[in-house]
Amino acid sequence: MTTTTLPTLRVLSLGAGAQSSVLLLLAAEGHLPGLDYAIFADTGWEPRSVYAHLDRIEREVAAPAGIPILRVSSGNIRADALDPGKRFASMPLHILNADGGDGMSRRQCTGQYKIRPIKEKVRELLGFPYPQRVPRGVFVEQWIGISVDEVHRAKDADVAYMKNRFPLLEQGLTRADCLRLLRSRGFESTPKSSCLGCPYHGNAQWRALRDTSPAEWEDVVAFDRAIRGGNARATAGGTPLLGQAYLHRSRRPLDQAPIDRVTAHEWAGRQTDVFDAIADAELEAGDADGCSPWACRSGTPVAADRFALTA
Ligand code: SF4
Repeated sequence: MTTTTLPTLRVLSLGAGAQSSVLLLLAAEGHLPGLDYAIFADTGWEPRSVYAHLDRIEREVAAPAGIPILRVSSGNIRADALDPGKRFASMPLHILNADGGDGMSRRQCTGQYKIRPIKEKVRELLGFPYPQRVPRGVFVEQWIGISVDEVHRAKDADVAYMKNRFPLLEQGLTRADCLRLLRSRGFESTPKSSCLGCPYHGNAQWRALRDTSPAEWEDVVAFDRAIRGGNARATAGGTPLLGQAYLHRSRRPLDQAPIDRVTAHEWAGRQTDVFDAIADAELEAGDADGCSPWACRSGTPVAADRFALTA
């Protein structure tokens, strides 16, 4: 095997939010040459609008440029949470402890449902599927859509066969720049990529779901009700949650939670340039661009041993 300091392949981690969609656009237009694949990790529970956006950028941007979009998955996060027979990588649920205190369950979902299937696909593309060892010097260059306003999220990969690159940082582009660029190419609104029932949603996202997509709202309300006692496998295995789990940070049932409360940041966002303000308000209100595999914008993982989901 010949080793090299050049990447064997260039791949885009495509979360299908604004930033990674812009990277796909720039590659398709030749501003960022050399992209071999875009990889989308599907948790199985993205909003319909995200799947529609993904289909559209595949049809109108990726396919004409000859960039294959590979959709990878390690299960359906919603179904797995409710299936006693499935080992479930926990979501960051808001917990009301038995003593009345608050907590959160640890976030394992991004690693299980997003990072893991991407790594598996990359190994396969390199020709060294797990458990084969990837030879030293064989690696992919992985593009990640992180804009300058979130530079702190840029991190190296944790495996030698992936080297991360951040083209938006190199170009000095902000999230607002990305939204403008997308609009200029006819993408008037780019949905946030994150699970339909992600507990990191802010009020604006919950309201949008309730007010514009009744079927998806019913789906998340039903899920919220179903996870009150924790994940199904733990409960069936005799280690139920010591408390109650909720999707909304108020730790009230989703259909009774105070999602109509408009935050100060949202009000501020309505006063100035609408697009920049929306971007700023989203970031401040916890309603940023969703859950990217390598830079979850929806929140920070909680210490693993402090708020364990089960007893
Ligand atoms: S969107 Fe939320 S629930 Fe889905 S993988 Fe990311 S952190 Fe987990």
